[in-house]
Amino acid sequence: MRVDVVSIFPDYLAALDLSLVGKARRTGLLDLRVHDLRGWATDRHRTVDDTPFGGGAGMVMRPDVWGRALDDVLPAGGAGHLVVPTPSGEVFTQRHAERLALEAHVVIACGRYEGIDARVAERARAAGHRVSELSIGDYVLNGGEVAALVMIEAFGRLLPGVVGNPHSLVEESHGAAGLLEYPVYTKPPAWEGLEVPEVLLSGHHARIERWRRDRALERTAARRPDMVAALDVAALDKADLAVLAGLGWQVSDGRLRPAEEPVAE
Ligand code: SAM
Repeated sequence: MRVDVVSIFPDYLAALDLSLVGKARRTGLLDLRVHDLRGWATDRHRTVDDTPFGGGAGMVMRPDVWGRALDDVLPAGGAGHLVVPTPSGEVFTQRHAERLALEAHVVIACGRYEGIDARVAERARAAGHRVSELSIGDYVLNGGEVAALVMIEAFGRLLPGVVGNPHSLVEESHGAAGLLEYPVYTKPPAWEGLEVPEVLLSGHHARIERWRRDRALERTAARRPDMVAALDVAALDKADLAVLAGLGWQVSDGRLRPAEEPVAE
């Protein structure tokens, strides 16, 4: 997979040399290139921004500079996927990471100031590229570099061979089960008076699996009721439904609802 990141602070992306993504770069699983947007500026001061049409505070990144950069880094023939991090985008989730991991070539355009002139995304779309304007959460950062790091780490670890044991990816939070992961423990079995749950030391695989599933359901109900409401009821067994009933969730009209929530007319 090839990934190009364009930013006015390429040094921000130095973290991509570390850990599993860094290793994937070194072994050639990930061809990741970082570019300085100012390399496409044409004036002496290497200007990339200007004042906003319509007035208001701040500066906007110029479409002509971005246009030249993207002409150089996006593949010909509309075959690329342009990702524009922005707090006004769709919220980035594991589903986006899964889709991006299947792409041959992703380009990430890191904005600064008040963001990038809207015509840049429009023009890439018109050229046939897939364009995703994505937010990493409901808060505002100073620039898209941290968002790019988040997204590259999320989709990069899904590329075959990046994570040593592919089983690690199966039972994780936000996976196919639609649940948060159960709590995990390691040695020592007793630490400062805190014991590892006995079932995990039992070697009884079916009991361990059930215990983990129950904890995942409990944790998801407590922390992410929106995820419980989105569960596919057909994929739940009797024991799951009993746990959820104990937590105040019931099936009504084919979906899980908190016991007190009335069914809409
Ligand atoms: N004026 C913009 C708005 O209100 O939507 C905010 C611009 S922000 C100060 C500058 C840049 O930071 C954005 O262009 C984007 O690249 C990045 N950014 C900020 N918050 C982000 C978020 N939650 N997710 C992804 N990128 C973000």
